[in-house]
Amino acid sequence: GSVFAHLVQAPEDAILGYLPTFSFSFSFSFDVTVAYNKDPSPIKLNLGVGAYRTEEGKPLVLNVVRKAEQQLVSDRSRIKEYLPIVGLGEFNKLSAKLILGADSPAIRENRVTTVECLSGTGSLRVGGEFLARHYHQKTIYIPQPTWGNHPKIFTLAGLFTRRPWCCPQGSIVLLHACAHNPTGVDPTLEQWEQIRKLMRSKGLMPFFDSAYQGFASGSLDTDAKPIRMFVADGGECLVAQSYAKNMGLYGERVGALSIVCKAADVAGRVESQLKLVIRPMYSNPPIHGASIVAVILRDRNLFNEWTLELKGMADRIISMRKQLFEALRARGTPGDWTHIIKQIGMFTFTGLNPAQVSYMTKEYHIYMTSDGRISMAGLSSKTVPHLADAIHAVVT
Ligand code: PLP
Repeated sequence: GSVFAHLVQAPEDAILGYLPTFSFSFSFSFDVTVAYNKDPSPIKLNLGVGAYRTEEGKPLVLNVVRKAEQQLVSDRSRIKEYLPIVGLGEFNKLSAKLILGADSPAIRENRVTTVECLSGTGSLRVGGEFLARHYHQKTIYIPQPTWGNHPKIFTLAGLFTRRPWCCPQGSIVLLHACAHNPTGVDPTLEQWEQIRKLMRSKGLMPFFDSAYQGFASGSLDTDAKPIRMFVADGGECLVAQSYAKNMGLYGERVGALSIVCKAADVAGRVESQLKLVIRPMYSNPPIHGASIVAVILRDRNLFNEWTLELKGMADRIISMRKQLFEALRARGTPGDWTHIIKQIGMFTFTGLNPAQVSYMTKEYHIYMTSDGRISMAGLSSKTVPHLADAIHAVVT
């Protein structure tokens, strides 16, 4: 017999705790997609995906990414040697500029260390392990609710995760930089300023998760504002960046971890320790995705083209919000649905409960996570009426 015969089937991701009660309940978008793929219905609709889709429901490769790849393949001098442990140097510099701003004093004063990591997830993991090894507090406070992977990433990195917010002096606090997942509810800039003051006064360490820069408002600078407010006060913080959504580079796994320090010599020592975290984990990061990003960020024309394509994606999502809201209003669906147009980013937290979600899956072949989160990117003008019919039926 197999030495692994004793293994039990790993449970589906059960962060929400009430999974077994309902026959159709998914708390994880991968599970949603598995069930969706099995459904033979022609009207089925997958609103669980955490990736952008076009109006035709297709995945999108940005034109500017195609151009950058053309440039890369036609350059015969390019080789496939290992990158350094910290990744592609130019990519790291440009990524720090993108998130902190070209005129950031922290960059000018060499107080920022940036390492290329495996997309947002890998950046959070490396940052988490660095903190577990070197920060004086071992607990990270994460929002309630939050992205389902957060607690697991930080626990395996060696930190304790806690929610909600009652953090003792010096704790680490995870902050969604923009487009909070799953709620789509972000603090206003005034509220961010209050959060900043409070956190600094209690010596709390901010760890920003920036998975949607530019994807929320359509502007890269607007979505980075909260982070820049924290950096502007001279204090320290960590930032995990992902290019999965805003450049559509999901499977290339390209992201960056920046640690903003108070002094250049500290930043240098931090980088030396980050290398010790990364080396035994995966040695060094992949070259292709980071090269694409570097080509785009270094070239003014390509950069401008990217911002337009990015705005195109953000605008389509905002338009889906308006269309869904209008469709519910037209049906006279009971309840206040203004949160659909007020929320920001890829997801809407509908407020539908697991029983309602399960009913919509069974009767309308509409798939979403059991917390009632729907991906606006999975909707199109054609499918909005079907979703509105289903929501109307389930709440009346
Ligand atoms: N953080 C949040 C809040 C997310 O929603 C995601 C992706 O869905 C990520 C991080 C990480 O994504 P990736 O590792 O693909 O960059």
